Amino acid sequence: TFHVAGRLRGLPQPATIAMSTRARELRAEGADVISLALGEPDFPSPPEAVEAAAAAGRAGDTRYPPIGGQPALKAAIVDKFRRQNGLDFTPEQILVANGGKQVIFNAFMATLEPGDEVIVPAPYWVSYPIIARMMGGVPVEVPCHEASGFRLRPLALRAAITPRTRWLVLNFPNNPSGAIMERADLEAIADVLRDAPHVWVLADEIYEHLTFDGRKHVSLAAVAPDLAGRILTMNGMAKAYAMTGWRVGFAGGPLPLIKAMTSVQSNATSGVCTLAQAGAVAALGSPFERVETMRATYQARRDRVVAALRALDGLTCARPDGAFYAYPGISGVIGKTSARGRLMASDLDFAEALLEEAHVATVPGAAFGMSPHIRLSFAASDAQLDEACRRIADFVRTLR
Ligand code: PLP
Repeated sequence: TFHVAGRLRGLPQPATIAMSTRARELRAEGADVISLALGEPDFPSPPEAVEAAAAAGRAGDTRYPPIGGQPALKAAIVDKFRRQNGLDFTPEQILVANGGKQVIFNAFMATLEPGDEVIVPAPYWVSYPIIARMMGGVPVEVPCHEASGFRLRPLALRAAITPRTRWLVLNFPNNPSGAIMERADLEAIADVLRDAPHVWVLADEIYEHLTFDGRKHVSLAAVAPDLAGRILTMNGMAKAYAMTGWRVGFAGGPLPLIKAMTSVQSNATSGVCTLAQAGAVAALGSPFERVETMRATYQARRDRVVAALRALDGLTCARPDGAFYAYPGISGVIGKTSARGRLMASDLDFAEALLEEAHVATVPGAAFGMSPHIRLSFAASDAQLDEACRRIADFVRTLR
């Protein structure tokens, strides 16, 4: 019989994948399904990136790259961190990985001992607790409630820290809530961290450029330079540059950590695809107005979706300050029954019924550690979003 390693047993199946798989099945059966389940920009990658990747291929830039990243890309990342985040790294302090996801994988594999705790503010992107558990770590969830704008509160963080805490994950703008942390919020978090010198921070800033209403993302390492020696600041090309398929993520951090992570990557995947790295260099140097245009588009879509959801009885919807997700609360419909007789006992029931009966794919909040909510992505066209909101409204109105 097939043996599955213990480290994989009991890991949750990411509900994001489960919902999009079911959506695909329904489509194959002929249903007109609108999927707002995936966090994937619906814009093309920058043409400069495509051209640079093709040129690199033609120029024979097709050999094994250095494990930690091509010098040209590391230089562009050093420059990006300095200009956009106020952070100073040497090229040796930068690691280029196969997406932001591999940065997290490398970091946890390089540092976690069995039983080490990783504080994950909830709601959270599904991969942090899963990767932590794969490495023998223990995720410790800290709820960030809708009433506090889904921001991490210093007292809640303080209460979660134990002698076994190894990492705090800080993902703002947040997937799935869209919350950001402003400078004052980060200063309060930094104060807590000053009292806990054994705690390291994984600052996942992959949505940094997607912020709304003139708000700007700030990096923890810039707010608290005295803590920079234990902050890993990660980012990537996927969200701001619409380059999900290129698989280029990166991080800047303390040299010993970056060295350990590079050693993990060396034995897992080696360096990132040379053509993708050439594309990333070109994208980082391409006109920033393009990112700004996407940001403005997401903001307009957010306004449409939030207005439509707030009009519904039984739903609440905080206005996300960043990223491209809405995370409405659905406690007002829990206990009701759908037209086809499904009981809404949880957000999972709601999301399933919404998909089966109204053909709108979303992700239940349970997947992100905070219920009852659903996450919908507004990385979709206005027409799709309007139609999806109309279907959600019709569905919610028929609940009894
Ligand atoms: N971090 C967050 C918060 C994300 O939502 C995602 C993707 O969904 C990632 C990291 C990983 O991005 P990638 O591995 O595609 O660079």
